[in-house]
Amino acid sequence: MRYVSTRSTPNVPGLPFCDILLDGLAPDGGLYLPEHYPSLTAETLAHWRTLLATEGYAAVAFEVLDLFVDDIPDADLRAICERAYASEVFGDPVVPVQPLSDGVWLAKLSEGPTAAFKDMAMQLLGQLFEYELARRDETLTILGATSGDTGSAAEYAMRGRRGITVFMLSPQGRMSPFQQAQMFSLDDPHIVNLAVEGVFDDCQDLVKAVMGDAAFKAAHNLGAVNSINWGRVVAQVVYYVVSYLRVTTALDAAGEDVTRVSFAVPTGNFGNICAAHVAREMGLPIDALILATNENNVLDEFFRTGVYRVRSGAEETSSPSMDISKASNFERFVYDLLGRDGVRTAELFGPVLREQGFFDLSGTPEFADARRRYGFVSGTSTHADRLATIRAVETADGVVIDPHTADAVKVAHDLRDAVAGPIIVTETALPVKFSATIVEALGREPERPAAFVGIEDLPRQVTDIPADAELLKRIIEEHP
Ligand SMILES: *Cc1c(COP(=O)(O)O)cnc(C)c1O
Repeated sequence: MRYVSTRSTPNVPGLPFCDILLDGLAPDGGLYLPEHYPSLTAETLAHWRTLLATEGYAAVAFEVLDLFVDDIPDADLRAICERAYASEVFGDPVVPVQPLSDGVWLAKLSEGPTAAFKDMAMQLLGQLFEYELARRDETLTILGATSGDTGSAAEYAMRGRRGITVFMLSPQGRMSPFQQAQMFSLDDPHIVNLAVEGVFDDCQDLVKAVMGDAAFKAAHNLGAVNSINWGRVVAQVVYYVVSYLRVTTALDAAGEDVTRVSFAVPTGNFGNICAAHVAREMGLPIDALILATNENNVLDEFFRTGVYRVRSGAEETSSPSMDISKASNFERFVYDLLGRDGVRTAELFGPVLREQGFFDLSGTPEFADARRRYGFVSGTSTHADRLATIRAVETADGVVIDPHTADAVKVAHDLRDAVAGPIIVTETALPVKFSATIVEALGREPERPAAFVGIEDLPRQVTDIPADAELLKRIIEEHP
């Protein structure tokens, strides 16, 4: 399997997996995708169903990744999956499913070290990076910006990995106390937390400024782990396969013959639902992909109207991990929607967005066919919806869900009659990460898993810095 950029012209030779693993963006500014999607047959799925029951998540993860990775020997890739998805890391079983009322299920993706679904991809990425760096005898300095979940998932996945140092920027005082405690309590010489004076965008601008210095970037082997990295997307394909298998197996045991499911995904940068799209393109029996946004609903607007309009800034909401003004992975879907036309994609995401701030596919046959051909439907959930949904699910099922998951449950209910099969909602975080909103909805603190008891009391490893790129470079340079 080879990889091409969403902005490449036809007949550009593709690159192997490990060559695109360590850099996020393609040189032409596009994002990497496989040259084609592998296809799943009914026999393959039947085989994986057995494999999941007998050997578990890691074995299925190997099978899925093996379809996308040619340049890592099978035995090594299998060992990488086993380390990433060990039950010590994610519990047992990895990604359990839980039925709620009205044909809605939760795929529980947040049982990892930082209680957010981002662990599912980051843990694999940590193993892949360490493997590939050792093979190339190289080191990597990861420079990232986080508003909360990405930073901690990255730090917990990369700590202790040979050859890797992480510098993580976060906006001073803006993350929830729990999120701050998670990151800042890590005591590891290769994990450097920098709290920047400013907001998340200032952190991102700093990363861009430092990454934009080509000589500095090369001298320090700077790399990123942001959500445009293909390794993160492909890791997430696995849990769609696994949760499909788990839910259909459970329903089959209950005497219900289900052939297709739908998924509801709380969406920010379109990474998670991009993996669902890939799984559907591979032939996983999915009817609808229900995209749920919060008040920052650029993507809902696109799927309803055909107009993709980048906002000037994100509104702060109570599902903060979806507070985006543009969706960094969306280009991957548009490339597929346009029949994999890299020239047209480059035009839309380059000059058109730059010059007019939006593009409009509303009159095109491709957009008219997006629901039938790709399964996408969408909706928006607001703060009031979030609170009402957290309450309703708690009352009906005795389950406390986090605000992001609540956005997806809300939109799933709204679109129930428009889609086929049971709806699997991807749970993206545990409620403990966003306790203020849980208290607002339920009048009590969410349950705190034992692993997180008392983390706020641990010593904090963090340095406050002004938003100054030269200073940041000096810190990276002088780090032992
Ligand atoms: C990152 C995140 C999301 C959004 O995921 P995308 O891949 O950016 O669409 C949703 N919920 C939580 C809790 C997150 O951390």
